[in-house]
Amino acid sequence: MRVVLLGPPGAGKGTQAQALVAKYGIVQLSTGDVLRAAVAAGTPVGLKAKDIMARGALVPDEVVVAIVADRIEQADAKHGFILDGFPRTVPQAEALDRMLAKKGLRLDAVIEFKVDEDILLRRIEHRVEQAKLRGEPLRPDDNPQILKDRLAAYRTQTAPLTAYYAGTGMLRSVDGMASIEDVTAAIARALADAAFRPVSGKRTARKGSHTAVRRSTGRKKPPKAAPKRKPTKAAARTAPSGRKAPSKGSGRKAPGKGSRPRRLTK
Ligand code: ADP
Repeated sequence: MRVVLLGPPGAGKGTQAQALVAKYGIVQLSTGDVLRAAVAAGTPVGLKAKDIMARGALVPDEVVVAIVADRIEQADAKHGFILDGFPRTVPQAEALDRMLAKKGLRLDAVIEFKVDEDILLRRIEHRVEQAKLRGEPLRPDDNPQILKDRLAAYRTQTAPLTAYYAGTGMLRSVDGMASIEDVTAAIARALADAAFRPVSGKRTARKGSHTAVRRSTGRKKPPKAAPKRKPTKAAARTAPSGRKAPSKGSGRKAPGKGSRPRRLTK
């Protein structure tokens, strides 16, 4: 299973990603965590990212795309992954599509956390206060003004991703303001629902055909035109609409029935 968690800072993506890791045994990739580790270790990527992160702006696409490309190649990501904090821009989403298409893969679901920004700000500020009380080190970008800037970056650069993923059949929304348990349950429902995506949404995915799949609406195709031949009485009885019967063993449904959801297997 390959899942993207989409939502502003403080929406609960990290918490839910951990719940998904425990439940499905797939790896979590948080670009924020990787970047913070790089900053702490003083690697070239860390040196590049440090100041950008501290002011709440986004690190250049090519830096994070390289991090993700590298991570999803690793053996433990073979059976799936949860992306938390990536993609954050449309070019990142396009790069992710390309990376997966090269492997003949695609995403299974994009879970969008719907939030109320005012509540969110109060929530993050509370989290920062609690961390201070516990004497935990704060992130340099965990202060009220930078938080506002991070939210602004989300609004302008990341929120357009919902339009990018809308219409792919992958996008599912959950109420990020609900309790942790309720959000976990809503995500479980969303993932189960994603597994029933229309045939046209997943089964047609082939190497190189990703763009076409992405734009698929899952709508029914019009039935094929009736054969010009004059129908015999028997033929008229068995095929009144002129549709072809589904061919056995083709694994595809007859035209006109293709939009019926069916269970996807791993
Ligand atoms: P948040 O708590 O804001 O969701 P993250 O831990 O995901 O934060 O990321 C912290 C910072 O790391 C971001 O503000 C940004 O500077 C950088 N970052 C993380 N992921 C990305 C990304 N996909 N693209 C660009 N910058 C990123």
